Amino acid sequence: MSNLQFDFEIIHKINELKEIKKEQILELIDEVPRQVIFETASNLRDDKKGKVISFSKKAFFNIINLCRDTCSYCTYKAEPEDTKLSLMDEKTIRELARLAKKYNCTEALFVTGERPEQKYKEAKDWLRKKGFSSTTEYLIHCSEIVLREGVFPHTNAGNLTKNEMKELGKTNVSLGVMLENSSVRLREDGMPHQDAPSKEPVARLNILKNAGELKIPMTTGILVGIGETLEECIQSIYDIKKIHQKYGNIQEIILQNFHPKPKTSMFEHSTPEENYFKMVVALCRMIMPEANIQIPPNLSPDNYNEFLSVGINDWGGISPITSDYVNPEFSWPNIQNVEKKCNNLGFSLNARFPVYPEFIPLINKDLKQRISLIADEKNYVKESYWK
Ligand code: SF4
Repeated sequence: MSNLQFDFEIIHKINELKEIKKEQILELIDEVPRQVIFETASNLRDDKKGKVISFSKKAFFNIINLCRDTCSYCTYKAEPEDTKLSLMDEKTIRELARLAKKYNCTEALFVTGERPEQKYKEAKDWLRKKGFSSTTEYLIHCSEIVLREGVFPHTNAGNLTKNEMKELGKTNVSLGVMLENSSVRLREDGMPHQDAPSKEPVARLNILKNAGELKIPMTTGILVGIGETLEECIQSIYDIKKIHQKYGNIQEIILQNFHPKPKTSMFEHSTPEENYFKMVVALCRMIMPEANIQIPPNLSPDNYNEFLSVGINDWGGISPITSDYVNPEFSWPNIQNVEKKCNNLGFSLNARFPVYPEFIPLINKDLKQRISLIADEKNYVKESYWK
């Protein structure tokens, strides 16, 4: 078969939105010019999502940044003696929620390390003094605080049990856990997740599946450029897709480009090559044409056009009041500037809640009622609320 015929057939299949198999994707990479793949992904986004890019106006709550695990690229994790140690008490959480509300943020992003109380006496004692036996118990309590203040919690606390997710699901409009990658190779000696049992792919996929059974909208994603292969990224997207096909609960896929951080063992590791990263994004759009695909806007502030041209439709959370504690060296862009850049490239920018509109029907009745009351009170539906 000539390349031209192959191009035509495969592109036709994708445009018809028929299921594209992994073998076809692998063939596509070998046979079809890169630019054709990128343009096809961009057209698919236009077709399924229009020329509209969304974002969530958020406040980042750095609840507890001690962590049981060690990933080779992480600088979020602190040690008890570090100046960056964060143990957010209820008063600080309430005050930040009020500030978030004042700034019309709709999302309270709760982040913690992986079960810090299992490794650090400091975390265990701190929680116990407050009357909690685990970080998750504390998160459940604090989620209620921020929801009462009129901000929607979205918790990303690593490997939660099904029961913990069920409890958090009473107040959290969505939950998040990065798959990172479904390759077990990345857990081997010398690989980035060697000392991070919580990043065992089967455990992470199980969380997404449990969320599906609980009807909780989930944010997940892949960290690109940590030593994986393109095929492993493709497999990871198919693994996420399989769960979504069964449960319909994967509300977005974050594709995050790795950046080396000082004082980590991956400091000398380079960022992913731009065309490689763009290929992952484009293939994600082809494999899951209807998905919400997000790239964090602060990690590549000069590359908006590059990413919009391979099929993304979301910039994720942007905070006007707090840092990105996971990537503190990258400041959040000004929202008006993001809008200007999008407009100049032919897109409009729309604010969204930390649950995408099409996933609101999934969440439980009581929570739906509570968030609709907040949305009404704040007039959140008005396009101009975040300006
Ligand atoms: S990436 Fe998450 S799990 Fe890994 S060390 Fe950092 S905080 Fe812990």
